[in-house]
Amino acid sequence: MTEQDKYAVFGNPIKHSKSPAIHAAFAEQCGQRIHYRAVRVELGDFQRAAASFFAGGGKGLNITLPFKQEAFAFADTLTERARRAGAVNTLALCPDGSILGDTTDGIGLVRDMVANLGWQLQGRRIGLLGAGGAVRGVLEPLLRERPGSIVIANRTAARAAELAAEFKDLGSVQGGGYELLDGIEVDLLINATSAGLQGELPPLPDTLLTVRSCCYDMLYGPEPTLFMRWAAQNAAWAVADGLGMLVEQAAESFYRWRQVRPATQPVINRMRNLLAAA
Ligand code: NAP
Repeated sequence: MTEQDKYAVFGNPIKHSKSPAIHAAFAEQCGQRIHYRAVRVELGDFQRAAASFFAGGGKGLNITLPFKQEAFAFADTLTERARRAGAVNTLALCPDGSILGDTTDGIGLVRDMVANLGWQLQGRRIGLLGAGGAVRGVLEPLLRERPGSIVIANRTAARAAELAAEFKDLGSVQGGGYELLDGIEVDLLINATSAGLQGELPPLPDTLLTVRSCCYDMLYGPEPTLFMRWAAQNAAWAVADGLGMLVEQAAESFYRWRQVRPATQPVINRMRNLLAAA
């Protein structure tokens, strides 16, 4: 081990990445000497930049938009969940010099809901909004929790239907347009759309929630998101944003690289305070 092992997050844009602050907090807490920085990689330059990072002694990378598919192609070997997701957010140098690709978003979401928030997934009826990279990344870990059913609803119905077909060997999963939500109730509703970034809300029927329903928005911010406000107005039992998922996916990457599992709650609290102060 070198004095300070090198890690980085590659993305574009990368300026607002919270990963350096999160990993610095993990390293401090666990007494690990690492150097972690955010790197803006030009479009089309990912393969060269990643190869150069590892050739220069780098130990691991996080990958964010828009390079998760390119990272998938770059990895020599893949975890089962990364293979199913078709995307990689963590690259790790293995003892034999090969590069392992993993995706930790899904396990991060599951840990936040189950361990931090105390939400039950087994046997539950889950509604998943969106059918982009985030949904693709969380389907395998969610289905491994053995929910009763998952309904994926997306603006572009065909994308949701395709995802459902791809993952149906792992459990009961159905996909289509938002009309799939008409007349049904869900125990857990997860917003994995980027609609909130445009100040929009997917078209959700007001019959969807029960008084025991939990609502999770993968988005986060200093204020409750539009989706969280909709959930509260529709009398959801519990509502959360995606800050915990962000910290948990980082913790899983940290664990893969360092074989040390940081305590996440203090870091979630610290990031929450930073968000509020920003
Ligand atoms: P993506 O691949 O670009 O997919 C975006 C999804 O949002 C698509 O399903 C898209 O529908 C839908 N959408 C966009 N605008 C919409 C609108 N106005 N109304 C309804 N649906 C709309 O993005 P992603 O990577 O899946 O990420 C989705 C969200 O999750 C992002 O906001 C991201 O920040 C968040 N996220 C958070 C974490 C975390 O750690 N907390 C991790 C991953 C992602 P179409 O298919 O019809 O275009």
